[in-house]
Amino acid sequence: MVKDDTQQAIPPDRIGLILKAACFAADKHRHQRRKDSLKSPYINHPLEVAERIWNTGECHDPAVICAAILHDTVEDTEATFEELEAEFGKTICDLVREVTDDKSLPKARRKELQIEHAAHISPGAKLIKLADKTSNVKDIHQSPPPDWSLTRRKEYLDWTAAVVEQLRGANQAMEEAYFATLAEARLGLKRASEELGS
Ligand code: NDP
Ligand code: ZN
Repeated sequence: MVKDDTQQAIPPDRIGLILKAACFAADKHRHQRRKDSLKSPYINHPLEVAERIWNTGECHDPAVICAAILHDTVEDTEATFEELEAEFGKTICDLVREVTDDKSLPKARRKELQIEHAAHISPGAKLIKLADKTSNVKDIHQSPPPDWSLTRRKEYLDWTAAVVEQLRGANQAMEEAYFATLAEARLGLKRASEELGS
């Protein structure tokens, strides 16, 4: 029997809901690829975000795990909040809403708003943001978009750090994992920049 962080058994129907979220997200993202040179399947990323929250953050709240798996469905596919609420209920839908950018706004404004909003979102949404930024920073280091200059990568890392500053205190282990990943990514960029200069 799977246990949660209070060592209580997680009811099988909650595990069923997590699997349903994985199927839903896999279907919605089925035509999408990440921006790395190998064009990884998009679903790898939301699954990684959920896995980080479960294993690093040791948060076993099914609503947070489901919302993590679903976190890019409305922003990046034709999925709607109405659909999420009908399939997964209001709690999960609201968590996804908290971490979804308003795509009607210009990109620069959306990025500013992420920094402004991060301190004010719910504890569960903060875990999703933290894991999302960690996953993306790891990708910038290990499998970056091939057309991104070193400057663009650096700007992206700096922006994630500004968001994560606002998430301080949400989860110590996940915070440490983010900063360790950021340090590796920055070191990688420094080395790449030195190689270019030499
Ligand atoms: P984008 O929003 O276009 O791309 C980053 C997003 O793509 C991530 O947040 C992630 O989002 C997703 N993603 C998919 N695959 C990868 C991958 N392999 N590695 C990392 N992320 C991936 O980038 P920005 O517009 O934020 O640009 C980054 C920075 O560069 C900004 O600070 C911007 O100011 C600057 N910029 C510079 C330009 C230049 O030419 N110098 C041009 C444009 C921007 P998700 O979690 O949703 O999957
Ligand atoms: Zn994401």
